[in-house]
Formats: sequence, C-alpha cells, structure tokens
Amino acid sequence: MKMSNMHIHTLREVPAEAELKSHILMLRSGMMKKMVSGVYNFLPLGTRVIHKMEQIIREEMDAKGCLEILCSALHPAELWEESGRWYAYGPELFRLQDRAGRDFCLGPTHEEVFSAIVRDEVTSHKQLPLNLYQIQTKYRDEKRPRFGLMRSREFIMKDAYSFDRDREGLDKSYDQMYDAYSRVFDRCDLNYRVVEADNGAIGGSASHEFCALSEVGESEIGYCDTCDAAATTERMECVDDPQETEEMMEPEDVATPDCKTIVEVAQYLGLPTRKTLKALMYKAEGKFIVAFVRGDRELNETKLINALGIPEHALEFADEAELVDIGCVGGFTGPVGLKNCTVIVDSEVPGMKNLCGGANKEGYHTKNLNYGRDYTADIVCDLKMVKEGYKCHKCGGTIKFARGTEVGQIFKLGTKYSKSMHVVYRDENMQEQLMEMGCYGIGVTRTPAAVIEQYNDEDGIIWPVSLAPYHVIVTVVNINDQAQMDLGMKIHDALEEQGIEVIIDDRDERAGVKFKDADLIGIPVRITVGKKAAEGIVEYKLRKEKSAAEMDQAQATAQAVEFIRSELVRLGHKK
Ligand code: ATP
Ligand code: MG
Repeated sequence: MKMSNMHIHTLREVPAEAELKSHILMLRSGMMKKMVSGVYNFLPLGTRVIHKMEQIIREEMDAKGCLEILCSALHPAELWEESGRWYAYGPELFRLQDRAGRDFCLGPTHEEVFSAIVRDEVTSHKQLPLNLYQIQTKYRDEKRPRFGLMRSREFIMKDAYSFDRDREGLDKSYDQMYDAYSRVFDRCDLNYRVVEADNGAIGGSASHEFCALSEVGESEIGYCDTCDAAATTERMECVDDPQETEEMMEPEDVATPDCKTIVEVAQYLGLPTRKTLKALMYKAEGKFIVAFVRGDRELNETKLINALGIPEHALEFADEAELVDIGCVGGFTGPVGLKNCTVIVDSEVPGMKNLCGGANKEGYHTKNLNYGRDYTADIVCDLKMVKEGYKCHKCGGTIKFARGTEVGQIFKLGTKYSKSMHVVYRDENMQEQLMEMGCYGIGVTRTPAAVIEQYNDEDGIIWPVSLAPYHVIVTVVNINDQAQMDLGMKIHDALEEQGIEVIIDDRDERAGVKFKDADLIGIPVRITVGKKAAEGIVEYKLRKEKSAAEMDQAQATAQAVEFIRSELVRLGHKK
C-alpha cells in the first residue's frame, strides 16, 4: 500500500478535548475523527485496527463453537417492556419514535433481542446448548462521554449469549467464555487482571471483569496480597469487625453545636470515629431510605442499590428540606424514631456497642446507641466500601488497590431473562423448562484504546503486531531518487508476497516528517531506504527499540518477516 494514496492526516498538536494518551494518540495519528461528543468516525488506519480486533475475537469465539449472527440496533420498546428494562435502564437508553409514534430504542446491549430470537427458534432440549454472538454497534447515552473510545456513546461491542438446559451447562459455557476472553486479551498483549464483578441482585460470584491495568483506568480494583481474591471495589466483600463485648450504657443526648460531619462530632465529643454512626439519606422510587454505617466506614452505593433491588439511576440523595417527613434533621440524623422510610444498616453495626449518632433534633447527637435496644432496621447487610489495607474476606491477608479499564465482562444471568421473556425448551419428558442464560461482552473499540494506554512513548503508539494497522513501513527518504524508490518498492513487494502487511511512505515529505509519522502511527518495523540504496543498504528499526541497524536489503526483509511471524506466533495468531 502506498502512503501517498492514503491521505493520512496526522496532527502535530494535542487536540484540546483529549486527556488520555490513547485518545490523544488516536486523534493525532489520524485513526479516527470526532463527529460529536462520544461519537467517532474511523479513518483507514483506525478501521484496520478495529477489523483486527474483531478478527481476533471472531476466531476465539468460533473456536468455542459459538455462532455468529448480526442483529439490528433498532429495538421495539415492547421487547424492553417485557424484560422490565424500558424503565430500569433509565436515561442511558437512546429512545426514539417512528413516524407513527411507536417507541423504539437503540440497543445498548442485546439480552432482550437474543432472548426473543432463541425463544422462537429453540423448542427442544436437543437444540441446546447454544451460544450466539455478534459484533455490532451499541448506543448508550452515557452521562459523561469521555476519553475517546473508552467511554463513547456509540461503540462496537462483541456480545454473546449462552443458552443452556441447566446450571451445570451454564457453568460450562461460562468457563468456556472465561477461557476465550483470556485468549483474546492475551493476543492483544494486554496486561490485564480478571476480577470478580458486581452482578446486581442475582447473587453468587457469577460475574468477572477483565481489567486492563492502567493508572488512568476508570475501574478501581482490590486484590489480596496473599491469596487470589480480586474484585472491583464496588463488588469486594468486607469483613465486619468482631462484636464488641462492653456493657451497654444509657443513651444520652449531648449538644453538638455546628458539628455537621461525623468527624467534627467525633472530635467535639472526643470519640474515635469508629464509635459513631454515620447516616446517609436517599430517595428512590418515591420512598426515603436512611442508611447507616460506622463513622469510620464509607458507604458502598452499589451494595445499597443491590440490597434495595432498585435500578442504579433510581437512587438519589434526599433534599434536606424533605427530611422532616421522615423525622430527621440534616446533619443530626440518627436511627431512633425514624418513620416513613426504609432503614438499612451495615452488617457490622448491630455488633457494635454504645455508638454515637444523630439525635434527630437540631444541634444534638445521642451517645450510647445500641442496636436492638434503641433501634432496629428493615435491612441489615454489608454496605461497606472496601479501603486499601482492609482484611481480605477470604484469607485475612491485606487488600491492595489497582486501577484498570474494563475491557470485557462475563455474567451468569441464570433465569432472569428466560423468566421474564419466557425463554423455554421442552425436556425429554416434554416438560417446559426455563433456559439458563449467560451474557458476555467485549469492548471492540475500547480494547485497542486500552492497548494504546499500555503501549506508547513520547513519540506515539507502539502497536503489538497483532493489532498494528500495518506490520512494516518502508520509508523512502527521497522519492525523487529513482534508486531509492525502486529499492523501496522492491522491499515492499517482497514483504507483501510473504504475507506481511506493508505500507510504503512515498509521500513528498521531508524524512523527519516521515519518521515522526511512522513513530506516531506505531508501525512495529521500519525499513528506511536512503542514500545507500544504490548499494542495497537500508536501515532496520523496531518501533519498540531506540537503535537502528544498517544492513543489506535482503537481510532486512528476511529479518522483518521473521520478526512479524514470531510475534504473531507468540501472540497466538491462528494462521
Ligand atoms: P462500564 O462499567 O465501563 O460503563 P459496562 O459494565 O456498563 O461498562 P458492559 O455492559 O459490561 O459495560 O459492556 C461490555 C463491554 O462493552 C465493556 O466491558 C466495555 O469494554 C464495553 N463498553 C461498555 N460501555 C462502553 C462505552 N460507553 N464506550 C466504549 N465501550 C464500552
Ligand atoms: Mg461491564
């Protein structure tokens, strides 16, 4: 391929709106262009990378016997009403109407659509198990689209859905997808970690996230320094402190003027924060919720949402003005005498003695509050947000934190959708049974961005060979020198003949510009044809290394072929 035909526009300047390296480098290297916030168009180089990503995924999915289909992005509202998600998905769902006023949405994910297909197509146990997938464009009206392809409003996802007869079958399908996903990300040369993920109200350790490690990643993960426990921080279980054995003392109201936060109260009264009770007031679906954790803990909203069984978007902080209705005063909220609300208490609190909480009157807190004697709750469960240094719930080791970008997630759905959408099969006795479902997603456009985060330097991208838009770039220093052009084309053709994806920089540009572009775009091997072309001498350089070597053109060609092939083998390339 001749670069002069490709009209690649690289940018010298850093685009103003881009913060992350991957975002900056994708724009600067001319891989893509922004159309509107969170929506991008892919140009030739970007398109090649996306196609490579898709091909890797396709091969690994096919290897597990999954079947590729392609569904529409336009979904009728009725399907989403059946599953209950027309409401539950909330404002992230792009909704629209046709000319007759009928409601539709642009699919952010396809559980409903795949369920509907399978319930029509599959009737007998003989047709199971089944795992269908697609590589397709998704739409999510993200609250904060940012970081380019990391969090966009339109993106490509590979989504797969497995349908099994029973739980055992689902476990198998899930393990297969776990393995396929590990292979996909290995082939991208990603440094990633698989962690337990939140799985809503379904329960069990039935979801894993594949997290590309990165200091700028949006996911925070916790892991144990001793055992293999690892989870997103929102998901990670926390250990309760042991029950306290001290004597219960009499409750006592004490004035705490101008003390609004729990730290101020503790300081004012000379108590450790672990002897206080922190209240958080919310509203969801027209009801008030008051949650309590010990003063030195943080509340984990994901755990709260799961315990309440509500969609994420339904939870909001209650206004101070509204709190009178439930019997409390902002800044002085305690657990005694609350009404018209759901009281939810962290599992550790009942075991604590003589805590100090709000007195539900302006300027006062109550000392020596004891669960069971002075107050109770509607729900008691783990509400704690893990912190670095906490004890591991599995082995007692110490929890450490890392950051990452979620590139894939796998999920045991069980019968959640088969129940609501009536996805059934007939067993050997002609009895109707619910199918056990799993769903599995990979961010096709987010993953290459996560790869760039890990593979770059001050000059640009350093693509792993498996995703590079081209394997080798032949840079002709002076295109007006016939010997240079001839040798450049000869090397280009020789490489192409051996199945290497090669691009020749035959643009009428200064050599410095060409080198800068080659580095920015991140092509793994550069062969430079310059002054010594007439003698058949060229320069060979790997993008990931600083130094270049002069050598005979035939040797450079052979070395490039050898390098690309061995890298592809190392990265598990199939062909
Ligand atoms: P996140 O927590 O980052 O919002 P999610 O858990 O909602 O992601 P899933 O529904 O699990 O995402 O989607 C499967 C995959 O699709 C994710 O692992 C991610 O790689 C990708 N993905 C999700 N949302 C986006 C987005 N807004 N832009 C780009 N890729 C996305
Ligand atoms: Mg996810």
